[in-house]
Amino acid sequence: MRYISTRGEAPALGFEDVLLTGLAPDGGLYVPESLPHFSLEEIRGWRGLSYSELAFNVMYPFVEGAIPEHDFRKMLDETYGVFAHKAVAPLVQLDTNEWVMELFRGPTLAFKDFALQLLGRLLDYVLAARDQHVVIMGATSGDTGSAAIEGCRRCEHVDIFILHPYERVSEVQRRQMTTVQGDNIHNIAVRGNFDDCQRMVKESFGNQSFLGGKTQLAAVNSINWARIMAQIVYYFQASLALGGPDRSMAFSVPTGNFGDIFAGYLARKMGLPVSQLVIATNRNDILHRFMSGNKYEQHKLEHTLSPSMDIMVSSNFERLLFDLHGRDGAAVRELLENAAKGPVSIADYRWKHARKLFDSDAVDDRTTCDTIREVYEQNEYLLDPHTAIGVRAARNCRRDPAVPMITLGTAHPAKFPDAIAAAGLSIKPQLPAHMADLFEREERYTVLDNDVTAVQEFIAGHWKNA
Ligand SMILES: *Cc1c(COP(=O)(O)O)cnc(C)c1O
Repeated sequence: MRYISTRGEAPALGFEDVLLTGLAPDGGLYVPESLPHFSLEEIRGWRGLSYSELAFNVMYPFVEGAIPEHDFRKMLDETYGVFAHKAVAPLVQLDTNEWVMELFRGPTLAFKDFALQLLGRLLDYVLAARDQHVVIMGATSGDTGSAAIEGCRRCEHVDIFILHPYERVSEVQRRQMTTVQGDNIHNIAVRGNFDDCQRMVKESFGNQSFLGGKTQLAAVNSINWARIMAQIVYYFQASLALGGPDRSMAFSVPTGNFGDIFAGYLARKMGLPVSQLVIATNRNDILHRFMSGNKYEQHKLEHTLSPSMDIMVSSNFERLLFDLHGRDGAAVRELLENAAKGPVSIADYRWKHARKLFDSDAVDDRTTCDTIREVYEQNEYLLDPHTAIGVRAARNCRRDPAVPMITLGTAHPAKFPDAIAAAGLSIKPQLPAHMADLFEREERYTVLDNDVTAVQEFIAGHWKNA
């Protein structure tokens, strides 16, 4: 499989290079040159497979040529074997034809584990084969950092440095990062805010001379193709569990960077019958505004009860724009260069096409809380605030009550006790058993000043062969 850039000017790459590269040199994102397509008969034949067997069938066409079948199967068994539920992505029923797919049974209780647990293993495999080493550098305001750290824990060819704003992430989130033991894991608390952390990462990628040419930086952010690829699988899994592919499904997806829902769009293009895809956003609603009015315009960032969806622009949306423009990289480049300067629109017929592909809704904090409370009262089932947005959008946008509507449950409620309290519920969501001692575990992190040189010196002095 070859991968091409959404901006049309970077050379096509194979899977291994795409895995290590992140952003394409022309500023675009990599997408597969063509998608595999599965017939209904093939998909039907996957009924009853384990999650990791299904994952193999869905993903192998994307890695074929780079990773031998046997090694890929082993990687998938290890990745999904550590999830705390045998079904890996179990479904919970809320009502007739209304479901939540629990994607938070992985090691850090967020759906990002599905991709990052695999990504760490893929990276280590490719780096070992090439006898290379990388330093992963990232900034986190909470969730992604812990999933990335967990994912890299066993990597021999990767050191990971995650920057978080000192005293500005929740205690659960901090502990999930700082209690993971490993010589290759480095947590840095920066005396600054999340934007300061992000700026330092960006600056370091721009000039890597502080590493002395002995290793190189790699990114595991949500634009990495391998992350999208891993998220396609659970759409197939949910469908097969509920009578697919012989009936169509609807999905509602709590969305920030458009990675998770883009994976659903790909699942449909690969042959899975999906009759509706709902983009569910919080008040950071650039996607909902685009879908309702064909205007793509950045607003100021709002802090909400669903922080993992607090974004100003949705980076993976570029991958959809590429398809909407008939895969014309030059058109995408022009559009996004203009979008950096002010509001943009796309041709009306293209926008109408986008509206056929997706429905959308934006949900504010108050309605998020109402939904958490409502579902608890109806089902004694506790939603985290991100999943609650998905459920609310699903109920608002639903077209056909005979079609199963599946909301992607993106995080465990115990990670967001403040939202549960704001919903007026006096219950305290409990961490699952395998995390119950989180508050007793030993923490390791280094506090550094808000100074990029200090951070770079720390990295240069602390990676494996420094
Ligand atoms: C990352 C995240 C999202 C948003 O996912 P995208 O792929 O960025 O759209 C939603 N909910 C939770 C809990 C997350 O961690």
